[in-house]
Amino acid sequence: MFDVLELHRKLAAAARASGAERTGVGQTLAELARPFVDEVTTDVMGNVICRKKGDGARIMLSAHMDAIGFMVRGIDKDGFVTVTGIGGHTPARLLSCRVVFPNGVRGTFGLRERGKVLSGSWADVSFDDLYLDIGAADGEEARSLVKIGDTAVFEGEPRLIADNRIMGPYADDLIGCVVLLLAMEKLKESRFDTYFVFSVQEEVGCRGALSAAQAIRPAFGIACDVCGTDDTPQFKHSNRTLVPGNGPTVKLKDGSVLCDPALNAALMKTAQEQGIAVQPEILVYGGTDTSSMQRALENVAATCVSIPTRYIHSPAETYDRSDAERAGALLAAFLSK
Ligand SMILES: [Zn+2]
Repeated sequence: MFDVLELHRKLAAAARASGAERTGVGQTLAELARPFVDEVTTDVMGNVICRKKGDGARIMLSAHMDAIGFMVRGIDKDGFVTVTGIGGHTPARLLSCRVVFPNGVRGTFGLRERGKVLSGSWADVSFDDLYLDIGAADGEEARSLVKIGDTAVFEGEPRLIADNRIMGPYADDLIGCVVLLLAMEKLKESRFDTYFVFSVQEEVGCRGALSAAQAIRPAFGIACDVCGTDDTPQFKHSNRTLVPGNGPTVKLKDGSVLCDPALNAALMKTAQEQGIAVQPEILVYGGTDTSSMQRALENVAATCVSIPTRYIHSPAETYDRSDAERAGALLAAFLSK
């Protein structure tokens, strides 16, 4: 049986930045899914589409497999590398973070001008203020290790840090991919014609799910992703409605979508029948594959099930594995005949 931590580790080791998902994580996911579905295909963009055939309406579940990362755009004569960000970054937070390229080259970020961070604000620091040190002695050695256009991701192995909490890079959204795997492992017979999609390029604007939805033409779309929490010290006046360990969420809204009320009611009913705790999710920012599916074509009822996660888009994203297990059980129950 699938184990959340083991799967997250396997996928994190194969993580790729948006645009480079086809090798690495895409192949790993296709192999993991194959025993549980009728067909696995990869489209031109790299979306991995796993179909479990059924007589009912078409439903698309989408979890994005791409990761925020870094693309090489320059190498200087001393061997230092300039990068541009892929996806949402706060460059000042990257100082001393470790990154890894698919060929195993590793590096960390330094600051070109120290004064900028000491006197200014974090928001003033851009990728132009950072350099990536890959250990090269000079430009020639650096060019033998990486080339323009190569992409890197955060390095790090997900770890259990307490009974149930897992900390590591790319819970966003490898944990969503894990949830889809858990659901397909549990699902015996579906009341839908079910498409599990491991989508590409979410972090740069939810692009892969749009293309996949246009091809699949689903009646229903359910994304599975992470959402922020509201239970850390910065949230002094929080209602504590998004707490790790209190269950997966059913999304009501985020910055890009208002979810389908009837689909949400049906998911909530399944949760209640199964005795699975869920939290209603209201996000004032962000976006997911949900909105891509909703707007891809006419008449798609869309929503999202999320895993509450702290420190999103850092190498130390932290979530509760019980939420992922319950999300997998909820989706399997919802899909089952
Ligand atoms: Zn995400």
